[in-house]
Amino acid sequence: MTTRLRSLSRVKRVVIKIGSALLVDRGSGIKADWLDAISDDIAALKARGTDVLVVSSGAIALGRTVLDMPKGALKLEESQACAAVGQIALARHWAESLSRHQIVAGQILLTLGDTEERRRYLNARATLNQLLKIGAVPIINENDTVATTEIRYGDNDRLAARVATMAGADLLVLLSDIDGLYTAPPHLDPDARFLDTIEEITPEIEAMAGGAASELSRGGMRTKIDAGKIATGAGCAMIIASGKTMNPLASIETGARHSWFAASKSPVTARKTWIAGQLQPAGTIEVDAGAEGALKSGKSLLPAGVKSVSGAFHRGDTVSIVGTNGREIARGLAGYDVEEARRICGRKSKEIEEILGYAGRAAMIHRDDLVMTELGQRDAAAADDRKDAAHA
Ligand code: GLU
Repeated sequence: MTTRLRSLSRVKRVVIKIGSALLVDRGSGIKADWLDAISDDIAALKARGTDVLVVSSGAIALGRTVLDMPKGALKLEESQACAAVGQIALARHWAESLSRHQIVAGQILLTLGDTEERRRYLNARATLNQLLKIGAVPIINENDTVATTEIRYGDNDRLAARVATMAGADLLVLLSDIDGLYTAPPHLDPDARFLDTIEEITPEIEAMAGGAASELSRGGMRTKIDAGKIATGAGCAMIIASGKTMNPLASIETGARHSWFAASKSPVTARKTWIAGQLQPAGTIEVDAGAEGALKSGKSLLPAGVKSVSGAFHRGDTVSIVGTNGREIARGLAGYDVEEARRICGRKSKEIEEILGYAGRAAMIHRDDLVMTELGQRDAAAADDRKDAAHA
């Protein structure tokens, strides 16, 4: 338990997923006291320097209450209407509750494509990072008003895991009516054993999760384990804990029961592994000696150091970076489409707006999206990542 507490207090960036049943009472609407208590927890985390992102369910449930809809299953267009009405109220409650601590909330509504398509993924990630930079708490939900069965996550467990990997979080906390993972459903099997730590999500662990969703949310244990696979695989640890008590985050720290899923790697390494592992870079960027040195010392690639670009890449595609000896030295995710990159290559970052007609990003490839691939360099970069992770 000591190790656990230590690792919680060392968290730099956490995503907290909150299930509908915790926030919304079918009869009376928002559970204001509970919301205020978790806002207090969030304020305490932020005061310690932790970035906090919230994935909040409850739009449909709240909209249902506001609209006084009868019990029973909703048709697609009914749930979309409920989400439209409920989301605006949900966001207002969050903004008001956090403002008691002078914390600003920013609403983000995502659809599946925003995390699965690289260019949209980069856009969404840039917005999240900017919100965190200014000290705001992103309040995230699926955009249920336009999501249909074919194009939706459908459950906020997996959405939260995607958000966690997108934001490079080191911890994902799933709060719901379940306090963790058991070897079998505890309400059906009196011999069910609670699992404190899950080092790896093996087929046995998956089998324990079964298939059934709880009545209160779309996500059951199945989607939580799916979320765990996404998160831990990308270097983000995960906690499943009950949110049925007041101040559930403070309770976790003081020892309330929860299941801990260990991260398999550090997030930086995982993302960079993904970039380096792209089979077919979409283009090539040739850099000068100055830029080559800058990249080797861990800096971003600025347009000024680019000699030429080739290929047919779009913003977000993986490109190969070639050094002065004509060999690939690094790979990264392009910050610009090839046509734009061609127009700004060799130019100063402050000229970008004049050339392109809009204020683009200063870097052709941001350092977070870069990985050195030249033999020897990659090991050095990996060692740096490990060092970063050790300081996390
Ligand atoms: N996005 C849904 C809502 O806000 C919740 C999905 C879930 O319960 O996982 O109502």
